Amino acid sequence: MRYRLEAGTMVTMENAETIIRRGQITWDNGRIVSIGEEDSDVEPVDQVIRIPEGIVMPGLYNGHNHAAMTLFRGLADDSPFFEWLEQHIWPAEARLTRDDIYWGTLLATAEMIRSGTVGFADMYFEMDAVAEAVAVSGMRGWLSRGLVGDQDPDFQKLYEAAAFAARWRHRAEGRIVPMLGPHAPYTCSPEYLAEVARVAKKENLAIHIHLAESQDEIHTLKQRYGRSPIELARDTGLLQNRCLIAHGVHMSEDDMHILANHLSGGVVSCPISNAKLGNGILPYPALLEHGITVGLGTDGAGSTNTLDMFLEMKTMAWLQKVRNHEPHRFTAWDALSLATRGTSEILGFEGGMLAPGQPADFIVLDGARTHLVPELDVVANIVYAATGADVTYSVIGGQIVMAEGIITTFDEGQARREVRGRVRQLVDSKGR
Ligand SMILES: [Zn+2]
Repeated sequence: MRYRLEAGTMVTMENAETIIRRGQITWDNGRIVSIGEEDSDVEPVDQVIRIPEGIVMPGLYNGHNHAAMTLFRGLADDSPFFEWLEQHIWPAEARLTRDDIYWGTLLATAEMIRSGTVGFADMYFEMDAVAEAVAVSGMRGWLSRGLVGDQDPDFQKLYEAAAFAARWRHRAEGRIVPMLGPHAPYTCSPEYLAEVARVAKKENLAIHIHLAESQDEIHTLKQRYGRSPIELARDTGLLQNRCLIAHGVHMSEDDMHILANHLSGGVVSCPISNAKLGNGILPYPALLEHGITVGLGTDGAGSTNTLDMFLEMKTMAWLQKVRNHEPHRFTAWDALSLATRGTSEILGFEGGMLAPGQPADFIVLDGARTHLVPELDVVANIVYAATGADVTYSVIGGQIVMAEGIITTFDEGQARREVRGRVRQLVDSKGR
């Protein structure tokens, strides 16, 4: 099937100036065939969609998520971090079944599709259930089983993760890409990380890991090993593979040199999670200076509450301006670039831009909404004025997964009902 979509405005993300007015985009077989101004003399297609007030833009890529944690949205909010984790999240997670994780993930995909995300990097457990939900949803998923080395002395779970990768590689029309997910250097020993690095190299898998998230982590690792998280990542061989580093808030000049010299992949910032848990603000200008690729992610809904990447872009921009006192140094374009091209590049994917030959991953915002008028600066409107709720269409790998605000790939209402019912069993009903 060949499709053409005509819309009032198109933001291609090739460069900040490329805004097409009265544009059209044609796609076939999962890829963009052409994009440009409307042309009356065009070749025939199978279906034409006209959205005169639509704003077409690349879909967003969420670089760090624990999707099934939608099950814990609102559980023990505002608690101190370790109380939240140890007294509320871990006991509830211990009761999770495979089906709970399937439905929690499916609910997350509905929320992500609705708010313009087309692909996400996930770290959790029962990853077959996660992969099944991703396959059903129509989204792209870079999926890794979270590995807590301290609970895996004989590497059994690591080898299971490699087996999961072998099972799911190239599945769901190529939308699923398995990765290896060692949780963090404070829950995985250097020996464990070295074995992860070895398996990753052998199986040609990229790595997804939490690094340099909190000041506490830096102190703990300095005491335990006399090294920073980034030094540990280098010394254990992790950086010899493509690495997606979640957070990267606390890094020294030396750490950034290491990443500049050794890292393929990049740092995925989760500004809302970092703010809410009191962990700080990414030193973005320093990373930029060192040429380190930066992307954007939400982290799980257990801590961030929402998976709306539009909120994440806004927060990123605000916090950078708060931190650096130079509002012109981090622009709406920068925020949008991180959530599209930035994350995509870190994942080793070619998305994040609308051009012929690129994957047909794009979304349409309803430009008729009152808060998006006038259109003096469409990119500023997208980042500072829009929310995920303004997204009405989503196309992923050429498939229309949402049309006129309705998800086409699965029954979203059923996912809501399942999650409501299951959470009653999982969480003490009087628990905050
Ligand atoms: Zn995380």
